[in-house]
Amino acid sequence: MLKKNKELCPICNESIKKQNIKSLSLNDTTVTDSRVTKNGTMIRRRRLCVCGSKVRFTTYERIHRPELTVIKRNGQIIPFNKERIFQSVKVALNGCIDQEKKTEQISNEVNEKIQDIGKDSVPTKTIGEFILKALKERDKIGYVRFYGVFKKVNDPKEYKRIVDTIH
Ligand SMILES: [Zn+2]
Repeated sequence: MLKKNKELCPICNESIKKQNIKSLSLNDTTVTDSRVTKNGTMIRRRRLCVCGSKVRFTTYERIHRPELTVIKRNGQIIPFNKERIFQSVKVALNGCIDQEKKTEQISNEVNEKIQDIGKDSVPTKTIGEFILKALKERDKIGYVRFYGVFKKVNDPKEYKRIVDTIH
C-alpha cells in the first residue's frame, strides 16, 4: 500500500475527496479499459483512482524476462548472442561438406544446453566446453580446430596430443 502524503492522494496526487478511505492501493483502483499496446509488447490499463478525485490514469504491464548474459574471461558481462555460437561453430567446420546444416544442429544443441542450466549468466568457458563436446561427437577436424582457438594453443605438440586423444 502506498503511503499517505498529507491530504494528497499517493496514487493520482490530487487532493483526497472521499472521506474514510480504507485503502489507497493501486490494487483497488477501477480498471476502465485494458488492451494490448500497438506493438504487442505491453498491456495498457486505464484506471480510475479510488480517492474520489475521479482522476484517470494509465498503467503499463510488460513481460519481465531477465536477459541471459555471458561472463567473458576478462570479467566483462555481455548480452548472450546465439549468433556468436553459430559463427564459432561455422568457422570450426570450415570446409566440411554439410557445414551449414551441421553448424545449425550443433549451435542449436549448445544453445539448448545453455538454456537448460537455467541461470541468468553463463561464463564463456562453459559455452566453449559445450561447443567442444558437441564438435568432438560430430566432427573431429572441427573439434581440433575449435580446441586450438578456444584453448589458445600455440604449441604443435599440444595439437598432436589432442589429435591423439580422438583416435
Ligand atoms: Zn487519487
